[in-house]
Amino acid sequence: MTYSNGLFAGLDIGGTTIKSILVDAKGETVGDIVEVRSHVKDGFEATFAQLESAMDQLTDAAGQSRSAIKGIGLDVPAPCSDGVIWGKANLAQDWVGSNIRDQFSSRVDIPVTMTNDCNAAALGEYAIRRKHLGGLLLVAPGTGLGGGMVLPGGRAYEGQHGLALEVGHVSVPFHEEDGTLPPCSCGLEGCAEAWVSLMALRRRLGIELQKPQWSDHPLADDAVPIQEKAFQLRDFASDGDALACQLFEQQANILGHMIADVVRVFDPGLVVIGGGLTEADFRDDYLQWVKDGFAKRAWPMYRQSPVDPDIETTRFEWATGGDGAAALGMAYTAREMFR
Ligand SMILES: [Zn+2]
Repeated sequence: MTYSNGLFAGLDIGGTTIKSILVDAKGETVGDIVEVRSHVKDGFEATFAQLESAMDQLTDAAGQSRSAIKGIGLDVPAPCSDGVIWGKANLAQDWVGSNIRDQFSSRVDIPVTMTNDCNAAALGEYAIRRKHLGGLLLVAPGTGLGGGMVLPGGRAYEGQHGLALEVGHVSVPFHEEDGTLPPCSCGLEGCAEAWVSLMALRRRLGIELQKPQWSDHPLADDAVPIQEKAFQLRDFASDGDALACQLFEQQANILGHMIADVVRVFDPGLVVIGGGLTEADFRDDYLQWVKDGFAKRAWPMYRQSPVDPDIETTRFEWATGGDGAAALGMAYTAREMFR
């Protein structure tokens, strides 16, 4: 096979691995995802070597040389603006303040576009839905609560400085039963992430297990660390366990509330839920709980067109791109920009 119109690489730098993929000028994927270690804690030069290794594995598998790659889309697990890393996150210190986009572009002599991992995942979900021409808001509850948005037409909305769509840290009007606002990983209180994340689930589980009504619950065993118990909640919820379902329902309701406010600002039309629950057995229930929370906060016109009741103005879907979505989104973006 020859690719006279070039190939485009998507390179998704994670905390532990780099996932990478090629697409051709028509947007068809070429070969499979290649995954290598990211070595982000060893500094960005170490990661650059890994990115090159991934690129060479991709082109070798396609029977091509590196010169076939006409553009690269790169995403990083940290806030970044115009190619420069602005926050350390899980990276080594030398990343911060460095123009990763331009330095990697010079090193490989290929044009590079770069964004953060949440935008990349949103772009990937957009790329998968080829018939979808509207906007797309991605929210991804996991360890934290990430978000990204793609505008109608296919560009990520990054804001002036790449700092937009920090949906996990919008404040939500929910309090613990003692009236306090829960602390967030960012140092603030009352953020959505303080309710909708694995971290939040641990805290909420700990509070619930203090109550006499759960004293006979299998998770009430003091010998098991709370982190481990929180991981087990997913299986309990899949079995319909009352405590686990109550915790996930509260989380999903608050997520829906937050989404309603973001939708009121951006009106994306489509909300994609990513993160850790996309494959959970109880995901239909979870999505309904999200919609319930959304319905309480969103005006009717954000749910259904007042002139055509068949038109849902905000649709909800689960993410389908799996953990290759970000790499795919960046390969598509590189194709859009550099073909
Ligand atoms: Zn926060």
